[in-house]
Amino acid sequence: RAKSDMLKNVCFYEPSMDEAVRARRTLASELREALESGQLDIHYQVQTSVETREIRGYEALLRWQHPRRGYVPPAEFIPLAEENGLILQLGEWVLRHACARAVSWDPPYKVAVNLSRAQFAHSDLPALIQDVLADTGLPPARLELELTESTLFADRERSLRMLREIKALGVSIALDDFGTGYSSLETLRAFPFDKIKLDCSFVSEVESSPQARAIVRAVLALGKSLDIPVLAEGIETQGQLSLLRKEGCDEAQGYLLGRPAPLGQIVDSGQISLAAVADKLVHP
Ligand code: C2E
Ligand code: MG
Ligand code: MG
Ligand code: MG
Repeated sequence: RAKSDMLKNVCFYEPSMDEAVRARRTLASELREALESGQLDIHYQVQTSVETREIRGYEALLRWQHPRRGYVPPAEFIPLAEENGLILQLGEWVLRHACARAVSWDPPYKVAVNLSRAQFAHSDLPALIQDVLADTGLPPARLELELTESTLFADRERSLRMLREIKALGVSIALDDFGTGYSSLETLRAFPFDKIKLDCSFVSEVESSPQARAIVRAVLALGKSLDIPVLAEGIETQGQLSLLRKEGCDEAQGYLLGRPAPLGQIVDSGQISLAAVADKLVHP
């Protein structure tokens, strides 16, 4: 009887589901190899002042060139890395790599690095950041960490302690994808963010949708009264940029201003040159 019950249960498995699970497992283990065999790279995307178009810094975005599948987007592999725990190693790799590059940028722009939930949950994160800054020689004021509301713990006190510890190092913190998570306003009230990154979903509709425009205007007003600069993500058209400028947005990021690109291309385009590198600098 037990046997036939088991067989009955087996019939509930959709073969396609099974395949999907297997494909995810394969991809997850291939990601481990990718980290070790140099398939991972970082692209950098410019962040500028809206008013003057001056460059403020670059966001580091992880890239995976899979030997057979080709480009795998982070939206696909970051969740896998979060599930299997590899995100801690990946996150440290990105942090070290990006800081080591940024230290030799001339002019000395900021570098923004995305932080995952598992990294934030790791109690040694402040120590790791301190270690990376010491190893690379990057001044703390030139590092910005981007996190989303979902990165923070349900335990607000603990999250606040963590953010304060990181900020005490002199590193700044940006709230990424603002407007897409839960309890955005409570998050803004409770935590000491240095920047709000307005999610691209509002920006993409700012010209066509009066609702999106009203929300953008409200977020910019909120930023003004809290004295936190707002960066608009995903700006693709001149119309969007003009509108955001009119509404008083502080910073901009998006394909219009520059696509994410390998550092080499940014150096070639003349936006950055590489200063003489200190001899103790470690290139991971
Ligand atoms: P994010 O941090 O919000 O990064 C911005 C995303 O918007 C990037 O997608 C960027 O390529 C894309 N983007 C920039 N400008 C435009 C535009 O004008 N139009 C459109 N349609 N998209 C634009 P990407 O590189 O695919 O990364 C997706 C997400 O993956 C990131 O969102 C971030 O949450 C995560 N991610 C990327 N790199 C890392 C990393 O090193 N660590 C962690 N933990 N997460 C990362
Ligand atoms: Mg980001
Ligand atoms: Mg974002
Ligand atoms: Mg995002």
